[in-house]
Amino acid sequence: MSLGVDPICVSSICSFNCTYCQLGFIQVRVNERQVFVPTEKVMRDLCESRWREADIITVSGSGEPTLAANLGEILVGLKAHTGKPILVLTNGTLLHLPELREELNHADKVFIKLDAATEETFRRINRPVAGVTLDGIISAASLFRQSYRGFLGIQMMFTRVNLHEVPQFAALLNRLRPDEVQLNTPTRPYPETWVVQTRGSHDGVDYPARPLKRVSREEAQAIESELRALTGLNIISVYGDK
Ligand code: SF4
Repeated sequence: MSLGVDPICVSSICSFNCTYCQLGFIQVRVNERQVFVPTEKVMRDLCESRWREADIITVSGSGEPTLAANLGEILVGLKAHTGKPILVLTNGTLLHLPELREELNHADKVFIKLDAATEETFRRINRPVAGVTLDGIISAASLFRQSYRGFLGIQMMFTRVNLHEVPQFAALLNRLRPDEVQLNTPTRPYPETWVVQTRGSHDGVDYPARPLKRVSREEAQAIESELRALTGLNIISVYGDK
């Protein structure tokens, strides 16, 4: 069981605007860090939560968590208070910042999103803010890989758009050599407006939303097998091939 911690919270704020985002169309699209939720408030809410029941604490929430300028402080506080494993989910757009790479060493696990292997597909799926490129993210992620002391995962969302880039994906994965690769396809619907419930576990969707096109089980298994053959990495899939 994972306890989600949201250091953004005020609305949806991200440096991407992914076509499949469970938050819907991102309301504030930026790539500059600032404090959205004071660390004291995060810690106060943590104390009032059922954190003892969690196996892991996952920092993600209403957008890109590394945009929170107090992320390092929050990670230190979460660890000191709970002693639980801490995971950060990121789109990697700020990994070029040395201070962020250092802060993330307070997390036991970091999972970086990688949904495209070419700049064109990257712009189509992730719709980044101006100035953010796939090449920039991969270069920064490589630097992070060299200094990071924890467990590095790569999360990939397969849709009809990036299905045919598997060899190029394999080349990028071979550059990064993560500890694990996770293959996904959109299982959550795309909300028509931002509603706070989209951050939940989606047990029943009672807000306006439309389903997204997924890859089939057979396609997912073919991608998994090909990536494994081309990289030799530990690959797990939302469908699984075993
Ligand atoms: S990076 Fe995550 S939060 Fe940001 S738009 Fe994409 S899916 Fe949504």
